[in-house]
Amino acid sequence: MFTNSVRFDPGFDSVLQGGVDTSGVAVVAGGAGFIGSNLIWRLLGDGYQIVCLDNLETGRHENISELLTNPDFKFFLHDIIKPFHVTGRVDRIYNLACPASPPKYQKDPVHTFLTSVVGALNILQLADAKEARVLQSSTSEVYGDPDVTPQSEVYRGLVSTVGPRACYDEGKRAAETLFHDMHETKGVDVRISRIFNTYGPRMDPEDGRVVSNFVMQALRGEALTIYGTGGQTRSFCYIDDMVNALIAHMEAEDIDFDPINLGNPDEFTIIELAQLVRDFIPEAQGVVFHGLPKDDPKQRCPDITRAKTLLHWEPNVSLRDGLEPTIKYFRNELAQSQSFGGG
Ligand code: NAD
Ligand code: UDP
Repeated sequence: MFTNSVRFDPGFDSVLQGGVDTSGVAVVAGGAGFIGSNLIWRLLGDGYQIVCLDNLETGRHENISELLTNPDFKFFLHDIIKPFHVTGRVDRIYNLACPASPPKYQKDPVHTFLTSVVGALNILQLADAKEARVLQSSTSEVYGDPDVTPQSEVYRGLVSTVGPRACYDEGKRAAETLFHDMHETKGVDVRISRIFNTYGPRMDPEDGRVVSNFVMQALRGEALTIYGTGGQTRSFCYIDDMVNALIAHMEAEDIDFDPINLGNPDEFTIIELAQLVRDFIPEAQGVVFHGLPKDDPKQRCPDITRAKTLLHWEPNVSLRDGLEPTIKYFRNELAQSQSFGGG
């Protein structure tokens, strides 16, 4: 049942003139977060008007503060667990609302699960009511701790229902089911993007994920914290490549409705990532080893054949090239926090 308990008017009566062919009104849930805010800046440039919903749980006001006076941007502080309605035209809905960093999503696991499942249902009901196309930011975590590599979309995963990561992994799996079922039963026009580890400017420096941790530790002259042996692997995608991928997936016509992996297939051990960060940052100290968190996946590498074939997309920023602007961004963040009396 769809209850319009929160109503607001985005105030957009018409679509901006002069934008690209696809321009219209896009709702971005989770738009104050890392990926969401990068996406919004790009969509505004493409001529979209934006309705951003975010509860600021892990998102940052800094990511959107410059936009608050932009007439094509509206921000609503809203938790997508609570039902909502958006009046006026809605053409596209990107659901990026959910904490993505393990320490953050594990802080309130029940809320993370509800965001993934109940939040997704509320998003889908809006898409149904507006006949809008909707994209779900799913995740490589639906594969859990995979025993095959690289992971293609047909791999069904090795996931724990009760481990510390389950609130996120199983929440995202259930959300994919809801997206699939709303497509099958109501004809909602859905896209399911399985995003692999993504990094870049606008990440929260205190986010707790490996790229932000290593870069901030190096810049502060601290030892880099490696969990476990550091032999586990991840494949890191630069944010500009990911934004291109999400838009390509959203705008693709005549594709099937099955999930598509989006990520960079260049695979690195965590030790290799630490070395790369240290190469870039002269202040960096050595490394220190900590215990491996429970259920930490040993390997992760996307098979992006479907993205290449259906979306004609593939990443073109190497980890080395993406780290440069990322480190510059974190350096600025650190300088700003120090000038305000922070650490
Ligand atoms: P993020 O934590 O920076 O952004 C998430 C945003 O969602 C934040 O602004 C947060 O405040 C908001 N949010 C969380 N719960 C909400 C709720 N109940 N109601 C409204 N807003 C809520 O994370 P991110 O890296 O930008 O990730 C964005 C999306 O992409 C997430 O759904 C995540 O699962 C998915 N994803 C990200 C990665 C990655 O490497 N960054 C990988 C796989 C999947
Ligand atoms: N990791 C690490 N040191 C850190 C943070 C993370 O060694 O300070 C490891 C973590 O154990 C995992 C990998 O880096 O194996 C990626 O962790 P992240 O939290 O970025 O994302 P995940 O892919 O695990 O969700």
